[in-house]
Amino acid sequence: MTHRWPGGARCVAMLTVDFDGTGNEVGQGFDPVGIRAAGGYSARRGIPRMLDIFERHEIPATFFVPGYDAEQHPDLVREIVSRGHEIGAHGYLHERWEVPLDEEEPLLRKAHDILVDVAGVAPRGWRSPGGMKSAQTLRVLRDLGYIFDSSDKDYDLPYPAIVAGEQSTEMIELPNNTSSLDDTYLYVEGAATPEEVLDLWLAEFDAIYHDGGYFMLTYHPRAGFGSGIPSRASVIERLVPAIKRYSDVAFMQLGALAEWCLDPANGFQPAERWIGARP
Ligand SMILES: [Zn+2]
Repeated sequence: MTHRWPGGARCVAMLTVDFDGTGNEVGQGFDPVGIRAAGGYSARRGIPRMLDIFERHEIPATFFVPGYDAEQHPDLVREIVSRGHEIGAHGYLHERWEVPLDEEEPLLRKAHDILVDVAGVAPRGWRSPGGMKSAQTLRVLRDLGYIFDSSDKDYDLPYPAIVAGEQSTEMIELPNNTSSLDDTYLYVEGAATPEEVLDLWLAEFDAIYHDGGYFMLTYHPRAGFGSGIPSRASVIERLVPAIKRYSDVAFMQLGALAEWCLDPANGFQPAERWIGARP
């Protein structure tokens, strides 16, 4: 299968980093201390380490940032932006997205406003912190000017987002694979070593490349379930140059890919969105 990608690339590669700092613990009612402090590693060590890796390899990345974590670490969020990366929204306290419908819009707007205030630039995309959304989530995000969602798991290419029950021409779904291309599942449930994760991600990339597809990696710069610590960060450091050895790979941020997909002049033919039982 071949797809047409920006610049005539054969494959698109996207590195997405879910900030997931102490807001994860605070949102669950825990003080982020002791064994509950692993989220603190994200801001103190993991993200600075990722920023240096991206700089060494000239990679534009997308960081999904919960509003609470942006409030706690405004200078770091500004540094992410100043070093050329994109900020996407990721809830306020990393909610599992079982929020009552009447509380959802204020929550999305609150997190959005914080990111605008802190980062000085409006996010253009969202990733559900718990992987869920309601029938109105994307309508609210569309009204806020968002052009992509990166939460669904039912495809491996972009497709039109369903906004207010209709396939949208203003917003696209950039699905992420949380089975084999997400660190948390591998390190926690799979008890994998960094070497095993690197081998898996290289194999995934190779298969996707030969399918002419879309490689989106999702990982967390935390200690604990994430990739912040040196041995796991080194997986990213080794993965990137390995991908760069393939010809015609475009490393992209999600906003840029969404913009390209949504511009009719580019002739991108997204898959039809399967519309499930709920509109
Ligand atoms: Zn998250």
